Amino acid sequence: MSSDRRRQLYWLFFAFGVVLLLQPIIKNANAPQNVAYSEFLSLVEAGDIESVEVRESEVRATKTDSSRVIAQRIPGLEGEALVDKLTAKGIKFSGYRDYDSWWRSLLLAWVLPIGLLFVLYSVFAKRMGGRGGALKFGDSDAKIYDRAKDDRVTFEDVAGVDEAEDELREVVDFLKNPGKYLTIGAHIPRGVLLVGPPGSGKTLLARAVAGEADVPFFSMSGSEFVEMFVGVGASRMRSLFEQAKKRSPCIIFLDELDAIGKSRGGLGTMATNDEREQTLNQLLVEMDGFNSDTGVIVMAATNRPETLDAALVRAGRFDRQVLVDAPDVRGREKILEIHSRKIELDDSVDLGVMARRTPGMSGADLANVVNEAALAAARRASKRVAVADFENAIDRIQLGLKKTGKVMNEAERTRVAYHEGGHALVAMSLEHADPVHKVTIVPRSIGALGATLQLPTEDRYLMTKEELLDRVCVMLAGRAAENLVCKSLSTGAKNDLERATETARQMVCRYGMSELGAQTFGIARDLRFLGNTLSGSEERNYSEETAQRIDEEIGTLLSQQQERAAAILSKRRSVLETMAERLLENETLDATELKTLNQ
Ligand code: ADP
Ligand code: MG
Ligand code: ZN
Repeated sequence: MSSDRRRQLYWLFFAFGVVLLLQPIIKNANAPQNVAYSEFLSLVEAGDIESVEVRESEVRATKTDSSRVIAQRIPGLEGEALVDKLTAKGIKFSGYRDYDSWWRSLLLAWVLPIGLLFVLYSVFAKRMGGRGGALKFGDSDAKIYDRAKDDRVTFEDVAGVDEAEDELREVVDFLKNPGKYLTIGAHIPRGVLLVGPPGSGKTLLARAVAGEADVPFFSMSGSEFVEMFVGVGASRMRSLFEQAKKRSPCIIFLDELDAIGKSRGGLGTMATNDEREQTLNQLLVEMDGFNSDTGVIVMAATNRPETLDAALVRAGRFDRQVLVDAPDVRGREKILEIHSRKIELDDSVDLGVMARRTPGMSGADLANVVNEAALAAARRASKRVAVADFENAIDRIQLGLKKTGKVMNEAERTRVAYHEGGHALVAMSLEHADPVHKVTIVPRSIGALGATLQLPTEDRYLMTKEELLDRVCVMLAGRAAENLVCKSLSTGAKNDLERATETARQMVCRYGMSELGAQTFGIARDLRFLGNTLSGSEERNYSEETAQRIDEEIGTLLSQQQERAAAILSKRRSVLETMAERLLENETLDATELKTLNQ
């Protein structure tokens, strides 16, 4: 029996008991008054009776003041005579079949109260977040969105995350036609992890996958597993998977996976959370326990992938990671369109302009903007949402974002545009650098203010000195561009510098690619303790003098590449300018747009 059924059964018993105890009260509530037969007769005489129901053993009379009385009839006495008397007085009377009343009292005294209690229960259960209170421990109470539901979400409701959408279409296709994949023996993804900043639409996307595939969707949040008593989380997990397997093909969605999936037993977490660990272990067991042809796909979402336990992201578990990023201008416009579908916009509202006004906002923020704008319009008692409503809503929400440091000012945006443009332009100008796939100035969750994504054209096992030098040159190009255009440096290049310095150090100390010749310096020690790398400490096996020469070599290498980057940028300054302009306008440039700029 499913846990849901069992819970309902408990409740039915409970309600039955309550109603049993209340029977006397229920029965007496509007019960007629008992009177002697003689009194009934005198009431008839006095003309106080309006109508009478004559039954086998009693008469039920309704008085003119609409109160009711019952009198027991005297066996063998007055049959026809009573009828005569009532007719004479002009009182309405009727017969009655006894079993009708039996049915009615059953209905009134039992079915109705129990039904009422049941309705009450379900209302309360909903209030408490779909949980049936203390009656059930350890049962999974996943929210199930079923295909029949009209709150079905599809990819139509999601925008600005095209790459994630493309990847997830494959999952949809698998859920729809599993046979196609299974016949050729292809491995089907078992776990898909959605990674991205809060409000970017991870939960929405997961529901859209279920909606597109038209399968049941079991959704549960990580925090729901760890809130109760020890052992509950694990058994909830078990029953969640049990339920899901019965209804395959379907999707299990674990929202906020980091609540249970934090890496276990690392150093510094002396007091490990037993409950969480048990739940995590159970999840691992469950994920290993079904093969992909059961048609259950586990999806999960997190905004802190770096905290997840390594065991979770291993092959066969959440081995697919899908990046759900904050939207750029075009994405924001589409998201605004989606959320404006249900409201009426004034003709003067240009959502493209609104999208430009909202840098740094997530999908959830934008949904909020539209809602606030609609509320503002309603406050004006207007049916149409005007530009001013949007402006107000954007200002209000941006104020909140500014406090949390999510919005850059115009000067900062410009600087980031030149910085990223610098990386991209130098990467495109160098022979050995990886091709640029995408440049963006949409702030990322992970610290960076923008990004230049380079994709290697092929898998690399070896790298030549030229390639490494070009790589360092590209890393330093962002800083060089800032220096060239803004005539100043900023803290934004910190990560670039770290990576460039590390690469240069390795070239000198590991690969022997400097004047110091074919020799390595220092012994790298990978200290491992219970699977956690402590720190990449290094044992020094060279003299103080050599140390100085190493530092010099690294210094020269870096400054040479910095100059090289600066030279390329000043030579192609006009391209850099247009690139930055386009970036400020569109926030992202993809490979084809970059190619046309590079000509
Ligand atoms: P997350 O799970 O990533 O924190 P949600 O999926 O819960 O974000 O997003 C919250 C709400 O914001 C959604 O219900 C939707 O209304 C809106 N939203 C977020 N991202 C998008 C998007 N990419 N497209 C359309 N609406 C979005
Ligand atoms: Mg979410
Ligand atoms: Zn950079």
